[in-house]
Amino acid sequence: MLRRPVRNWASIWKRPVRLINCQKKTGMARQLHARRLEGVDKNIWVEFTQLTADYKAVNVGQGFPDFSPPSFIQEAFCSAITGGASMHQYTRGFGHPALVKILAKFFGRIVGRDIDPMEDFQITVGAYQALFCTFQALIDEGDEVIIVEPFFDCYQPMVKMAGGTPLLLVCQKSTGPALSSADWVLSPEELASNLNPRTKAIVINTPNNPLGKVYQRDELQMIADFCIKHDIICISDEVYEWLTYDGAQHIKIASLPGMWERTVTIGSAGKSFSATGWKVGWAMGPGNIIKHLKTIHQNSVYHCATAAQREYDTFGTEDSYFKQLPAQLHKKRLRLAECLRSVGLEPVMPQGGYFMITDISSLQVDLNDPSTKDEPYDFRIVKWLIKEKGLATIPVSGFYSPEHRGNVQNYIRFCFVKEDSTLKAAEDIIRQWSVKK
Ligand code: PMP
Ligand code: GLN
Repeated sequence: MLRRPVRNWASIWKRPVRLINCQKKTGMARQLHARRLEGVDKNIWVEFTQLTADYKAVNVGQGFPDFSPPSFIQEAFCSAITGGASMHQYTRGFGHPALVKILAKFFGRIVGRDIDPMEDFQITVGAYQALFCTFQALIDEGDEVIIVEPFFDCYQPMVKMAGGTPLLLVCQKSTGPALSSADWVLSPEELASNLNPRTKAIVINTPNNPLGKVYQRDELQMIADFCIKHDIICISDEVYEWLTYDGAQHIKIASLPGMWERTVTIGSAGKSFSATGWKVGWAMGPGNIIKHLKTIHQNSVYHCATAAQREYDTFGTEDSYFKQLPAQLHKKRLRLAECLRSVGLEPVMPQGGYFMITDISSLQVDLNDPSTKDEPYDFRIVKWLIKEKGLATIPVSGFYSPEHRGNVQNYIRFCFVKEDSTLKAAEDIIRQWSVKK
């Protein structure tokens, strides 16, 4: 029986239909939307977050912790709020001085060079805005940008909105059953085949969302050689940089010889400190690149919340949260994998990040929902799971371009940065369902 969606005013209010009514009322004949919006209006987070809320499903889909950030971060935030008038007013638009100084010192040790706190950072509203500023600042009409697929879904629309053309470089699964995210590999030949005179940048994401792949040194070196040889900018999204497992090591491509000069590294305090709602992120790179991101930032957002930029006083101490969180997640990751295996689903063990994907081709499900009949199989399965079983996951083909989606419909993504009680609730649903099958 179909579970009834739970409706509330907030959810109804969010619906795009209001825009349509508004358009009708104004009676305007001219086209309202800018052409750059065409083909980028659909968004998996908007769609699946709403569906998850409507059906009150157990959420192991969207990537956010359902537990609180560590207490030292909460205390730092509270002391910022009560720390005097200046914490409630504008601060330096390119980043609160105390924060950029701490970040420069911290990352300077990792990349092995002096980083200029004032020149080499732009603090942003989450990693999302860092990515947006980067594409807007560096990509011109007609430029081509290599995006390694599967990719965090916003890269492609952001490149398009900047007037660029995405070139998709598929990270191929090696033959045989995939047991680890390391089974997805980049081929140097395919990388080289994407090159032409308009190729300006490449976007990589390590640890990768959704695969959990952590790029090894030789893979990063191959990309670095390519960038240096052909004068290409590297945009490296490293929001999950602290989360690696089983000895996998996160390496910053900006730390390889010759790469600092051409790399924009994207980071997220939300992901680093389990506070995704605070929306603090950054772009880090050489001042001559970052200054262009600053131009975009100063003319659009100008400034990010001052108090939210105060939480970094304890950035990187010995008992750092950056060590505690992966230790905690390692256990949750094993727990989820064991549950999936117990019902005959083979998980792809992630080397890093928040997520685990699993092949669902063995599932025998009678998909009789006509409203999803034209959608990829994984979208249909995920919607069925939400509506019929009250379990929210994410379809992996959503991390592929519409052109390639048809080839990758057999995986769904689980998020394990969740309370044990949430994981237990998900396990109960999965096991009960497998008994009934
Ligand atoms: N990049 C990747 C790979 C992500 O998964 C996300 C989602 N957290 C972002 C960027 C955006 O991060 P933020 O929430 O800091 O804007
Ligand atoms: N990055 C998060 C994920 O992959 C969610 C981003 C969002 O909700 N927009 O789940």
